[in-house]
Amino acid sequence: MRVLLVEDNPTLAKSLTDALSQARFAVDCMHDGEAADHVLRTQDYALVILDLGLPKLDGLEVLRRLRQRRNAVPVMILTAHGSVEDRVKGLDLGADDYLAKPFGMRELMARVHAALRRSQIAPVPLRTGPITVHGLEVDPDQQRAFLLSDDGTRRDARLTPTEFRLLYVLAQNSGRAMSRDELQQRVWNVPYRPRDRSVDVCVRKLREKIDRKASHTYLQTHYGIGYRFDPAPHSL
Ligand code: CA
Repeated sequence: MRVLLVEDNPTLAKSLTDALSQARFAVDCMHDGEAADHVLRTQDYALVILDLGLPKLDGLEVLRRLRQRRNAVPVMILTAHGSVEDRVKGLDLGADDYLAKPFGMRELMARVHAALRRSQIAPVPLRTGPITVHGLEVDPDQQRAFLLSDDGTRRDARLTPTEFRLLYVLAQNSGRAMSRDELQQRVWNVPYRPRDRSVDVCVRKLREKIDRKASHTYLQTHYGIGYRFDPAPHSL
């Protein structure tokens, strides 16, 4: 399986390449954002490990361009220790996971395997065909969600792969409050980490892309629990 590693620190790049090669991945390593952006336009990878602080083009811009091309390859970002803002920005732009530096190789490998498992198994439709509720269609075959208006127009909500997975899991469990822990497990396939904001960030993006454009608020907050998908007005 081919992995693209983008890291400008030669020592870290070397140890990451060694660890990944030992785990039998074919690793391409790029040392700046421009080279990464170029290679991502021409090559297919199973996973991208992307440092954010890069020469020539920063990692967030590489990620933004990648998702703009609707490339859904799983991306794990490497962030500086304590850089919550970069982490949130990265998740906002469609990163699937992050690791804060410094990290151990065992943790890295566990996350790599989890990301690959997710991209292979998830987001498998448990039922065929789209879930259609009042004003919204969630289509697992296309991995897209559509906003439906009264006049019959159908508009792509342009969700990232992670946003789609979260919406789909919530919609499948329509009406049930789901904890952040359960959502983290089912969407990211990793255990919930204290202070991890992935679920909240992703819900915020979904609200921007869906709730704010629809006539109904689908994503409801359950204080002390998590989130619930509300399929229709007054459906409680
Ligand atoms: Ca760097």
